[in-house]
Amino acid sequence: AEVAGLVHALLRDVPDFPQPGIVFKDIAPLLADGAAFGAAMAALATFAAGVDAVDVVAGVEARGFVVAGALAHRLGCGLVPVRKAGKLPPPTIRRGYELEYGTAEIEVPVGLLSGKRVLLVDDVLATGGTMLAAAGLIAEAGGTVTGLAVLLELGFLNGRERLGTAAPVHALLRI
Ligand code: IMP
Repeated sequence: AEVAGLVHALLRDVPDFPQPGIVFKDIAPLLADGAAFGAAMAALATFAAGVDAVDVVAGVEARGFVVAGALAHRLGCGLVPVRKAGKLPPPTIRRGYELEYGTAEIEVPVGLLSGKRVLLVDDVLATGGTMLAAAGLIAEAGGTVTGLAVLLELGFLNGRERLGTAAPVHALLRI
């Protein structure tokens, strides 16, 4: 609850970004505050300790890398990147998905996920399309998603329902 208040206090609303009509939630002030960033990672580590098991943390490019890197280091876990298509060297697998406007494609490295128990993290859960595609790719690569975590969940977009996963989903703040 305390960490939710911190996340809330350090969120910045940016109207009409990246498109007219969208209010972008900027988490940069949270990451820029050492005490708040630390408290956020401690809270995610507590969540991670309660899930089945974690071998690697998978983070979604680009802000998800920041969360994944800090959390993996804290947990003593490995890190596997989920990247925008065309950035990772082969072998990879790729999946397309719908955005609020338009489409996107992400990729994972196949060799690093087989047999791994994976904590999937990102900065923001919005419509859930990104997390759903990432979780699908991790499963396709032979990994098992044992938990999903974000700093911020935009609850009104129903991403959690769309994910429809049996694994626990945790958000430090849900708005
Ligand atoms: P989704 O696929 O609709 O759930 O969108 C989640 C992805 O878009 C995440 O990778 C976020 O980084 C990004 N995203 C969507 N909305 C926001 C926002 O308001 N602030 C920051 N990132 C966002």
